Amino acid sequence: MCEVITIANQKGGVGKTTTAVNLAASLAVAEKRVLLIDIDPQANATTGMGFNRSDYEYNIYHVLTGRKKLSDIVLKTDIPTLFLAPSNLGLVGIEQELSDRGKEQKLILKNKIKEVLSDYDFIIIDSPPALGSITINALGASDSVIIPIQCEFYALEGLALILNTVKVIKKTINPKLNIKGFLPTMYSSQNNLAKETVANLRQHFKQKLFTSKGNSDDLVIIPRNVKLAESPSFGKPVILYDIKSPGSIAYQNLAHSILG
Ligand code: ATP
Ligand code: MG
Repeated sequence: MCEVITIANQKGGVGKTTTAVNLAASLAVAEKRVLLIDIDPQANATTGMGFNRSDYEYNIYHVLTGRKKLSDIVLKTDIPTLFLAPSNLGLVGIEQELSDRGKEQKLILKNKIKEVLSDYDFIIIDSPPALGSITINALGASDSVIIPIQCEFYALEGLALILNTVKVIKKTINPKLNIKGFLPTMYSSQNNLAKETVANLRQHFKQKLFTSKGNSDDLVIIPRNVKLAESPSFGKPVILYDIKSPGSIAYQNLAHSILG
């Protein structure tokens, strides 16, 4: 059975793409067949995986507008069981195009994903920092959502917005959608605000935090780590750039927590 997981938070720069790329790569290295779908016009997951515009003719825009099947645009990556459905800036116009098409527009991605479900163990979707038609399509197509939370002041502010969006999607187009978990990102142990953020998450959402080794006190927390910031410029997930770095180990722990 394929599990479809969207990485979402309408806040910008909280670690969505870093999480999507590195979770997908870590699951693939654990020998799962994984499709990473980039559905953000910024195309950061696509470039972070080492692809630029001249490397592919079609992208997720052509899928969402009905011109291509998902399997037509999928690219192979350096990890044999990891595949990428790329995006590019051309996707920018899609919000308007989709909203012109009525109710069906919310389920386009779901219907496209249906055709490839049997090819993968996991589909990981990287969404843009907004709660418009693109993110609604991603959530409509998913079993669950992971919400990265940057460990900083105001971290939990705005959380109500995404939680409410999940609730509405669940009630309307996708009753099976659940919150897989909140993932603290860019944690620095010297920073008291980071510690406070994690303490707050523990207090309010303990059941929805990822844990390592079945130990409920051993939370999966993504550290602030320069290797995670550098690896996209080499077009690689961190596991291929520095497998033993703290960032790489944290995303492998996340993958193992999900694999159980
Ligand atoms: P957007 O909302 O624009 O799509 P995002 O939520 O996808 O942003 P990322 O692109 O993953 O966020 O991260 C924002 C920036 O922070 C990037 O430059 C990334 O390399 C860096 N970054 C993310 N996670 C970490 C980390 N754990 N340690 C150090 N740098 C990080
Ligand atoms: Mg991003």
